[in-house]
Amino acid sequence: MKDCLRLKEHYEAFVLGALEGEERAELDAHLARGCPVCTPGVAEARWVVAQLSHAAPDAEPPAALRARLMQRVAETKQLSVPQGEMSEEHGARFTIPFWAWAAAAAVVLFFAVTLWQARQFEEQLATVRSDYKRAQNEKDRLEAQRREMESILAVVAAPGTREVRLKGEGQSAPAVKAYWNEEQGVVLSAQKMPSLPTGRAFQLWVVPRKGNPLSAGVFQPDAAGNLLQLTRVEGSVGLKDAAALAITEEPAGGSPQPTSKPAWVGPII
Ligand SMILES: [Zn+2]
Repeated sequence: MKDCLRLKEHYEAFVLGALEGEERAELDAHLARGCPVCTPGVAEARWVVAQLSHAAPDAEPPAALRARLMQRVAETKQLSVPQGEMSEEHGARFTIPFWAWAAAAAVVLFFAVTLWQARQFEEQLATVRSDYKRAQNEKDRLEAQRREMESILAVVAAPGTREVRLKGEGQSAPAVKAYWNEEQGVVLSAQKMPSLPTGRAFQLWVVPRKGNPLSAGVFQPDAAGNLLQLTRVEGSVGLKDAAALAITEEPAGGSPQPTSKPAWVGPII
């Protein structure tokens, strides 16, 4: 038991493979006979050393271990005797501060490597995270697009849907097709739509047989001039009450009433 207390301070050095000489032999013997103090003690030291190699980048080595190592280094230095006075047989014993330095160096090396690995890992993790986020955003975008396309197809294919053809002002204006379903909304479809100035948008109107036009949504063709969009008619005007659909150019947010002459008009027959 008294021996165990003395051996206790060498557990870490033993685990690091830096314990030599009599103490090494003694501790080996304790472990060989399953000493109830040294066996768990060495196991714990092994765990502590293993933790050092997995520690977080900003972790400090356990203060106790570091203090013990430093103390051990200091002691060994004091014990060292000048070369001249050293006898052959004691020489081997007193001039080996190396293990302590080796142990300290091993700990420092552990941390340097661990820190480097942790940095590498952090960088890889950041890359993986941003890739994942980008993929996730793309997936969400495609999913929204798929849902939109499904709604569009549902409107076009629904039994109660009326197809309305809107003719543009002038020869070069493309025709715009509208598919109006009273429950589901209006799908607009066109190609080669003219591009709009910044801050402007097209607005679809339902022109009733009586009263003012009702907004049926603001839209913008894509950069290539393609248009395929589902909009909703505001208010409760049905096909039978509507005289025409019309499209005007308006400020990007839309207007409560048309502010320009319609660029496309399609009568509802
Ligand atoms: Zn023991």
